Amino acid sequence: MVRWYWIAKKNAGVVMVESLSPGVFTLLETVGIDLDEFHKTCSPIARSFKFWNDEMIETVNPPGFLTDRGQFDSLLREIAIKRGIRFLPDSKVISLEETNKGWEICFRQDEKYQICKAGFLVDASGKKSAIRGIKKRVAASTLAVSGSWENTGFKKNETILESGTNNWFWGAMLSNGIFHATLFLDPEITRIPGRVGLTRLYTSYLEKTELFKTCLTGRLRGNLIANDVTPFYYKKPASHNYIKVGESSVGLDPVSSQGVQCSMAGAIQAAIVINTTLTDPDHVSLATDFYQERQLELIRLHEEKISAVYDAACPAKDNPFWAKRIMKTRRSESMPTPEYWTPSQRIEFSPDAGLMPTGCIIANQVSSRPGLTHPLLKRPIVFWENREIASILGTLEGRFELSEWIRRWSEKINPVGASRLFDQLKNMGVLVAAQE
Ligand SMILES: Cc1cc2nc3c(=O)[nH]c(=O)nc-3n(C[C@H](O)[C@H](O)[C@H](O)COP(=O)(O)OP(=O)(O)OC[C@H]3O[C@@H](n4cnc5c(N)ncnc54)[C@H](O)[C@@H]3O)c2cc1C
Repeated sequence: MVRWYWIAKKNAGVVMVESLSPGVFTLLETVGIDLDEFHKTCSPIARSFKFWNDEMIETVNPPGFLTDRGQFDSLLREIAIKRGIRFLPDSKVISLEETNKGWEICFRQDEKYQICKAGFLVDASGKKSAIRGIKKRVAASTLAVSGSWENTGFKKNETILESGTNNWFWGAMLSNGIFHATLFLDPEITRIPGRVGLTRLYTSYLEKTELFKTCLTGRLRGNLIANDVTPFYYKKPASHNYIKVGESSVGLDPVSSQGVQCSMAGAIQAAIVINTTLTDPDHVSLATDFYQERQLELIRLHEEKISAVYDAACPAKDNPFWAKRIMKTRRSESMPTPEYWTPSQRIEFSPDAGLMPTGCIIANQVSSRPGLTHPLLKRPIVFWENREIASILGTLEGRFELSEWIRRWSEKINPVGASRLFDQLKNMGVLVAAQE
């Protein structure tokens, strides 16, 4: 039987307010966690204010929750312990050594250094990442500078987002009455001074805002905290004896507010990859390639999404801060323009389409199945309407009219599903007008 140990550093004790997308709770339910407990640590967002592109949008009861990450993480830790993980509290990993049997992990607990041996390592150590490797930056360099304010007059469970000329702010207040305001800057554009200068810079940017300047009617508690939040990913997130999860593998742009959800979704995939790696040695490469591909896919989608958010942000689009964050060409712009086809038009699969072995999840294992590939598909299509697509399509050969394609596929799935498949493949340029 495999035993899992969790070596966990002491919490720094800093209150970090974060917003959680509703998907976080769907994921928790997926792994069988009762959500009742979470209502103690997560409050629904009561109201959000967005001052983006000089326009104010107020939303009452928007989707999402606010939480103090320390409390949220403590609850997750308790659940993991109840489920059998051996928790080593207040332990800091000092060094790792890869051996021919796995890993030797040196950690410090209660001022004592200890070594433990492990066959498999899950690196969930966040941005500082215990396992190093080639790290790739994905988007513009960003520094987050966070401050906690008291007596500001903001209301609890409200969130505020505001764009400036060369920066943006996000802030929220939990029920404890402390408002957390984070400034996002580009350190390649704004020179970042030392501690005293940083407070001056942060305050001067607050003064220039419409909504956040209210902070200055209150009092700053404690020191500002600066974090590098530049999006990145590690080139090799998994191997036969390790897997990187959460921000030890991928860091997303904070404008997406998706960091926690994506870390959790990635961890669920990682669990399936680990299960395959430890129980099915023939499929280790398939499983690790599958994990790496999902990560690259996440990054590609993320780049497009954040670019669209930044594009909508600011009148000063020519300002390098915004220009650096907006993609020059979007994937959607390279999509073919939908054509009108007459009923007698003969149609064929594009020569770029193919059926290729593809990693996919089947019953908690990564397995290989034929997937339909094409450069314009975001990922290979393996299943359609719960059937393997290869068994629906049969072959990619032939030139037929629309009605004949649908008739053939309707032998395997219902005609509505077959029509939807046809439309999808047509819109993505996988089906094209036959060259007579
Ligand atoms: C300013 C800011 C605002 C953000 N706002 C949001 C938001 O609103 N919504 C959102 O979804 N995401 C937000 N994020 C992103 C979110 O915080 C991360 O995506 C998420 O925390 C990643 O989770 P993780 O478990 O991978 O890493 P972490 O949360 O960083 O956890 C890593 C853990 O590993 C431990 N650790 C590290 N090194 C060692 C070691 N050597 N030995 C033992 N333990 C170690 C740490 O103590 C920590 O407990 C924000 C990030 C920042 C910086």
